[in-house]
Amino acid sequence: MTDRPTAAPAPAFNAPASAAPVTPDVLTVPRKLPETGRINIVGLTREALRAALIEAGTPEKQAKMRVGQIWQWVYYWGVRDFAAMTNLAKDFRALLAERFEIALPQVVTRKISADGTRKYLVRIAGGHEVEVVYIPEDGRGTLCVSSQVGCTLTCSFCHTGTQKLVRNLTAGEIVGQVMLARDDLNEWPQPGEGAEAGRLVSNIVLMGMGEPLYNFDAVRDAMKIVMDGEGIALGRRRITLSTSGVVPEIARAATEIGCQLAISFHATTDAVRDVLVPINKRWNIQTLLDTLRDYPRLSNSERITFEYVMLKGVNDSDADARRLVKLIAGIPAKINLIPFNEWPGSPYQRSDWERIEAFADIVYKAGYASPIRTPRGEDIMAACGQLKSATERARKSRAEIAAEAGL
Ligand code: SAH
Ligand code: SF4
Repeated sequence: MTDRPTAAPAPAFNAPASAAPVTPDVLTVPRKLPETGRINIVGLTREALRAALIEAGTPEKQAKMRVGQIWQWVYYWGVRDFAAMTNLAKDFRALLAERFEIALPQVVTRKISADGTRKYLVRIAGGHEVEVVYIPEDGRGTLCVSSQVGCTLTCSFCHTGTQKLVRNLTAGEIVGQVMLARDDLNEWPQPGEGAEAGRLVSNIVLMGMGEPLYNFDAVRDAMKIVMDGEGIALGRRRITLSTSGVVPEIARAATEIGCQLAISFHATTDAVRDVLVPINKRWNIQTLLDTLRDYPRLSNSERITFEYVMLKGVNDSDADARRLVKLIAGIPAKINLIPFNEWPGSPYQRSDWERIEAFADIVYKAGYASPIRTPRGEDIMAACGQLKSATERARKSRAEIAAEAGL
């Protein structure tokens, strides 16, 4: 085990950074934390923070400026203590400390893989736990964040799919995952350093637990906070939202967040996709592809990633590969082949390496990038679909999973 990130193949998602899009902010009503009666600043949009400051007695004409100052302390410098906000008057700092807090989910355990992958188990309000995974590559890295505790969906190859949805994460809990990783990696800027000096969390993927499009508002607010140029300032092209195919919400990801899109495709016939990704019974392959063809940001520079988990004997034949490229014809796309991560009791096996390569070759020869995702953090069970939570007790029964998947 080592604390030092090791060199690794190119990341699965590594689009260049660019400016955040201009889209209207949506007001989130600030929620008081039940434990303290204070409002958590983390997760409030600028508008919501402004409203909360005014309610706490800040004169309206000062509120915008105060938001800007607090924002920089919290999201640019990573400060957690109002007393350290030295460009604010002492009385105002005292008021803030009385009415607000800067709270993150609590890290319960941290595991570091031999390959440098870090897995954090974090506790959120109510005692629930979710996992956050940091995957370093060549001095940069991708953070895999969760959007829900459990999942309402029941993809039959996914460990999260065996857990019932416990609840949606709040925007603060989603931004908090990014902030706690930056804490652990010690990457908040130091005075005199530019923000780019230590970009260890250079990319974010919404590929942890949960279906982000079923928690749209919180995910959107959280990503807008992460993209805000006066704070963490991660470019929208460095953020990838992965969905199983919640068709009515897909266009909103482009217009309201502006991030990159990944689709958990995984099968080339409705019969197989109905079993692997049961949401297919609601919105089938054709409906999904029609929606993707209309995706507002689609272009050669902003391709859609199709994720395709390689399951031995289920979806990995040459015929599958050929059907896949036919189906997506005309969509600027890249195909990310994911060797299946087995979990205890999983009903599938990983395809053999030669099979995965043969599949990749057919896709590549048809003109699509077809990277095979390198399994990372296997020694600490940090891979997609293996993320666990303390909500094991809320497990779906095998019968329930089979019934929902139509097995
Ligand atoms: N709910 C969203 C995002 C979370 S899952 C979605 O389904 O897209 C993130 C990715 O991990 C998805 O592509 C999912 O299909 C994949 N995945 C889940 N379990 C896996 C497993 N056991 N092995 C490999 N990939 C898995
Ligand atoms: Fe939920 Fe995604 Fe897992 Fe399907 S693959 S059960 S949508 S987390």
